[in-house]
Amino acid sequence: MGMNTGLYWFEHDLRLQDNQALSQLLQEVKQAHLIYIFQPKWFVVNDFGHCAMGQHRYRFLRESLHDLQQQLNSNGQQLHIYYGEPDTIIMKLHEQYEFTHVAKHFHTGVYECNQFERMSQLLQSDKVNSKPQVMTANSYTLFNENDLPMSVANLPDVFSPFRRKVEKDAKPQAPIKLDLNYLPAPCESEPSIANDLPKILGSDPILAKHNKTVQQLIGGETQARAQMQYYTFGTQGLSTYKETRNGLEGWDFSSKLSPWLAAGCISARQVAEWINEYEGTYGANDSTYWLFFELLWREFYQWQQYKYGHHMYQHKGIQQHTPTGGHQPDMFVRWCNGSTDYPIINACMRQLKHTGFMSNRGRQLVASCLVHELGLNWQYGAAYFEQMLIDFDPASNWGNWQYLAGVGSDPRGLRRFNLAKQTQTYDPDGEFIAYWSSYTSL
Ligand SMILES: Cc1cc2nc3c(=O)[nH]c(=O)nc-3n(C[C@H](O)[C@H](O)[C@H](O)COP(=O)(O)OP(=O)(O)OC[C@H]3O[C@@H](n4cnc5c(N)ncnc54)[C@H](O)[C@@H]3O)c2cc1C
Repeated sequence: MGMNTGLYWFEHDLRLQDNQALSQLLQEVKQAHLIYIFQPKWFVVNDFGHCAMGQHRYRFLRESLHDLQQQLNSNGQQLHIYYGEPDTIIMKLHEQYEFTHVAKHFHTGVYECNQFERMSQLLQSDKVNSKPQVMTANSYTLFNENDLPMSVANLPDVFSPFRRKVEKDAKPQAPIKLDLNYLPAPCESEPSIANDLPKILGSDPILAKHNKTVQQLIGGETQARAQMQYYTFGTQGLSTYKETRNGLEGWDFSSKLSPWLAAGCISARQVAEWINEYEGTYGANDSTYWLFFELLWREFYQWQQYKYGHHMYQHKGIQQHTPTGGHQPDMFVRWCNGSTDYPIINACMRQLKHTGFMSNRGRQLVASCLVHELGLNWQYGAAYFEQMLIDFDPASNWGNWQYLAGVGSDPRGLRRFNLAKQTQTYDPDGEFIAYWSSYTSL
């Protein structure tokens, strides 16, 4: 028998530590080929007039891959970056190397699940002579499916009962460590790096220089850990998170971990463990608990997505009930560009366009405005967010949009925010609005 050779396909798990699927594969093989695939369809305009991949996330992803590459290189391994259809690329690589094992992480997204299914079927089909063992494991969520105190089919459709049940009867998985001294050898000594990656214009250089959010949101596992350290033991921002988390602008009002969590540069399990360690040193309070509480929101939407599949992204939502609002192209463009009649909305939308980030409060306000004030179709808003957000995550994005559009997991139905009152509460001196009014609406 020949030597065990493995293929690992990185997706939303751009890290080496606490990566279950990667660790399991590396234990089985003597040689490994580690890949990431940029897919052409991410760059094609969809039915809503947007691409799945926008400039901010594209930059962040490439930085994350660079960090992964550097970590692997300094430990004798390589990351190969391809551009093309995954099926074709993987089958070609399998022809070349005859892998004994192929692995990819588990993710609850419809598209991600389908991709894994298709890859498994192709590799197990009659046409393939040497069929590899296809493996998957989860470390994107806090809990594994088996840890949940209910079946996915019986998952509560409202957050609070879900939270109460998991807090009582489930424990987040402990993160696992990978010993970088014992990585299997690479299949090739030189990395293959696609040189035909699509070009997307970079962010506004003036803003990139001055806006702190743009400066600090740098992709990669190394940066993710640095940010976790900064927000916890560094500044102890975690101890006041509950009071500051509704801020609109600035680096310190919330953890800013979302882009790293979405790209998988850090896992929710690592964040949960970090919170525990911090509480051990500085003590637990409402704020330290609240960060975990927000991770449970993330968790809730991940499993809702697994339960409802395509309904998560459809107009009628998981409730299968027709929402208000229709598509009005001119009004929608005004919303995107930050030129509506509502200064707070304009500031948030310009912030998004120029940085790829918007606070949670801002996201709630602009979504409420799109649905209630402007009477638009919520899916267009969600699709625009998908392209623009540096932290886009299918479950968190489409789940939150559904919630606000009244077709998702909100028991109270439509959530309408009073924009004048919200402006008074969250931007009482008008600083946020003034800051962003100096940026063009493009
Ligand atoms: C319309 C809308 C769209 C959204 N789209 C996304 C998205 O595509 N990707 C994304 O990561 N978050 C999304 N969110 C959730 C939330 O706004 C962001 O996670 C948060 O603003 C990120 O900043 P932070 O990391 O500083 O959050 P913190 O307040 O520090 O929270 C810590 C972590 O908890 C999780 N979290 C917090 N709030 C939520 C929430 N409401 N739902 C799910 N998870 C949450 C995130 O992983 C976040 O990083 C959306 C919210 C709304 C209202």
